Amino acid sequence: MRIATFHYQGRRQVGVVSEDGATLRPLELGDARAQRGVLSLIEDRASGTAWPAPTGASVALGDVRLEAPLPLPRRNIFCVGRNYHAHAKELSSSVFKNNTAKADAWPIVFTKVPECVIGPEDEVRLPGESVSSQIDYEAELAVVIGTGGRNIARSEALSHVFGYTIVNDVTARDVQMRHQQWDLGKSFDTFCPMGPWIVTADALDGTRTRVRCWVNGELRQDGQTTDFIFDIPSLIEACSRGITLYPGDVIATGTPAGVGMGMSPPQYLRAGDTVRIEIDGLGTLENRFV
Ligand code: MG
Repeated sequence: MRIATFHYQGRRQVGVVSEDGATLRPLELGDARAQRGVLSLIEDRASGTAWPAPTGASVALGDVRLEAPLPLPRRNIFCVGRNYHAHAKELSSSVFKNNTAKADAWPIVFTKVPECVIGPEDEVRLPGESVSSQIDYEAELAVVIGTGGRNIARSEALSHVFGYTIVNDVTARDVQMRHQQWDLGKSFDTFCPMGPWIVTADALDGTRTRVRCWVNGELRQDGQTTDFIFDIPSLIEACSRGITLYPGDVIATGTPAGVGMGMSPPQYLRAGDTVRIEIDGLGTLENRFV
C-alpha cells in the first residue's frame, strides 16, 4: 500500500494511492490530524486504532500537489553515513578519512532537523555562495518506524518497520567538513526532500532494492541496498540502543557511490539543476534546485 500526504482543494489530506497509480483515495482524518500527514495513521496502527474510512471520490493524482508523507517529522531524522561499500571508498580521503576504522564496528549516525523536510513538488533553495558553494545530493532509502521501542533486537527489527520512503540527504559539503559533526551542513532549510509517499513494509523489501539518482538526466548513483555495510535491522538496533524509537521516526539509510563530491573534479549543484531519485518498488522523487 502506498500512502500519500497531499494538498487538494485548499487543504492538506492523506490518502491511499490506487494500484495503477492514477488516483488517490482520501481518508477521513479531519483537518487537524491531516496536518501531521501519514504520521496520524502510523500512530493509529501502533496503538491498535482502526484507520478512518475513505471519504468521497477518488482524486486524480495529477490534480493534487503531493507533499512529504511526513511534512514535519516528529523529531530529527536519524541519518546514517558511510553505509554503502562503494561510497565509503569514493570518500575515503575526505568525509570519511578520520573514522574509517571505527566505522567498521559501528554506524555513523547524525541527524537532520525536521523543519528542513520539503515535498516532491517543492524546490530546494541553494543558500548562496557566502554560506556554501558545495551543495551535493545523496539519494537514500528511508525507513519509517511503525512500532516504537528501545533496545530493539536485530532479529525483531523488521517487525518495527511501518514502511519506506525516499529522501534526498542534501548536503553542504564545506559546512559538513568544517564542523566535525555533520548536522549543520545537513540541515539547511529545504535540504530534505521526501516522498513521493510511504510504501508499507508488506509491499516492499527494503533490504533488497535498487537506488538510483540522476542529475539533469545524467545517471550519477546506482546502488543496491544489498551493498549496505550495516543492514536495516542493524541500523534499527543501533539507533534504539538506550533511545526509545517512536512511531513515525525516520532512519535514512545512507547513500550509494556517485555523489558530486566524489567526482573528479567534484561537481556541485547549481541553480536550475534537477535531481531525480528512483527506488525500485517505491517511486520517484524529483526536485529542482533554485
Ligand atoms: Mg546521507
